[in-house]
Amino acid sequence: MTRSEALFARAVKRIPGGVNSPVRAYGAIGEAPRFIERADGCYIYDVDGKRYIDYIDSWGPMILGHNFSAIRESVIKASENGLSFGCATEIEVEMAEFICEHIPHVEMIRMVNSGTEAVMSAVRAARGFTGRNKIIKFAGCYHGHSDAMLVSAGSGVMTSGVPDSAGVPDGCTRDTMTAVYNDLESVRALMEQARGEVAAVIVEPVGANMGVVPPVDGFLKGLRELCDQHGALLIFDEVITGFRLAFGGAAEYFGIRPDMVTYGKIIGAGMPVGAYGGRREIMEMVSPVGKVYQAGTLSGNPIAMAAGLTQLKYLYQHPEIYQELAGKGELLYGGMREILAEKEIHFRVNSVGSLGCLFFTDRDVVDYTSAKTADTAAFALYFKKMLEKGIHLAPSQFEAMFLSAAHTEEVIGETLDTVKQCI
Ligand SMILES: *Cc1c(COP(=O)(O)O)cnc(C)c1O
Repeated sequence: MTRSEALFARAVKRIPGGVNSPVRAYGAIGEAPRFIERADGCYIYDVDGKRYIDYIDSWGPMILGHNFSAIRESVIKASENGLSFGCATEIEVEMAEFICEHIPHVEMIRMVNSGTEAVMSAVRAARGFTGRNKIIKFAGCYHGHSDAMLVSAGSGVMTSGVPDSAGVPDGCTRDTMTAVYNDLESVRALMEQARGEVAAVIVEPVGANMGVVPPVDGFLKGLRELCDQHGALLIFDEVITGFRLAFGGAAEYFGIRPDMVTYGKIIGAGMPVGAYGGRREIMEMVSPVGKVYQAGTLSGNPIAMAAGLTQLKYLYQHPEIYQELAGKGELLYGGMREILAEKEIHFRVNSVGSLGCLFFTDRDVVDYTSAKTADTAAFALYFKKMLEKGIHLAPSQFEAMFLSAAHTEEVIGETLDTVKQCI
C-alpha cells in the first residue's frame, strides 16, 4: 500500500469521501487520490516522494508557479505581526486601491474568503440594487456552492451524476433561471418570459467548469446588450479568468464591461480569498453604507491580503507573463491537437490562452450538452496513464488544465511526449 492509499483509508473514515472538496476525489477514476506533501514551480510532490508536472495549480491560484518566493516571503513577513485582528488594516486599502486603479469596471470592491462567497454576495447586491429577484445563469457554469447557484452547476456535480444538490429547498432556486451557454436566443427568451424581473445575468466569460468552453463571437457582447435592454446587471464570474486571461480578466480580454465582477483563486495566491466589485452605485448598496447585508470575520485577512496583493502586483508589473502564457497555451494545446489528429480517436481540444481541455468527443464543445457527449471512460484511462507517467491532471473530464508561468517550453514538450504515449 502506498502512503497515499494509507492516508486515504484513514481519511474516508473521518472526512466525507476522504476529501474536503469533492473535486479532489478520484471517484470518477476509481483510485485513492494522491496526497500532496509540497510543491515548487510547476512540480508537485506526493507523500510517496513521486514528482508530477502539475496542471491543476491549485485550480488556478498558482499562476506564477507553486511556492513563488516573493509570495512566500510576504506571508512570513505579514504573519510576524499577528494572524488576524478583526479590525481594519492598511493592506486592505492597498488591495482595494490597486484593483480599482487598474481595472476600470471595478470602482469599489469588497473582500470575502472564497469564490462561493463572492458570487453569493454579488447576487445579493444585484438583487438589492435592482429590487428584482430573478437570476439567469448558464447550464454548466459553476458559481460556487451557495444554494441559489446549485442549478446545472458543472464539473464536480457533473461527474458525480447529481444534477442538482439535495438539501437545497425549491424556494432557493425558484428564482434561478438556466440558459444555454453560447445561445443568446435562450437568454432573450428567459428575459422576455420574466420581463422586468431579472436582476442579473451571471456568466463565466470563458466556461471553465464544464471543461473549457470559450464564448463564441458576439456572445458576451449580446449578453451586455440584452442586460441593457432589460435593465438587468451583467455579472462576470472571473474566479478563474480574472488576472489570468489578462490582468483585467475576461472583461479586458474580450473588451466587454460588466456591471459587477467576482474574483477568487488567483486573487489570493493560494490563500482563501474572494472578492466582488463593480459600479460604485451598486457597491454602495452593501452594508454598512447600504441595506444589503454582507459580512465576514476573517474577510480581508492580513496574511491573505499580503499573499494576494504580492501576486497581483507582480502580475501587473510583468505584463509579458500574459503573452508568454498565451504562447505556452498555443504550444501545449496546439501540440495536443497535432498529436491527436494522427490517432484514431474522436477528440476536441478547446483552449483560451493558458486554459485548455481535451474532450473525448466527436462534437464541437460549445455548451453543457455538447460537453456531456465526452467519453468519461476514455478520459479516466488517459488520466490514469498520465498520472502513472508523472503528469498531474484534474481527475475529471470536465475540468480545465491550468498553465502557469513556471511551465517551461521544455516541460510542455515533455508533457506532449507523454500525451503521445498515453493516447
Ligand atoms: C472555483 C469557482 C468558484 C467557487 O470558488 P470557491 O473559492 O471554490 O468557493 C466560483 N466560480 C467559479 C467560476 C469558479 O471556478
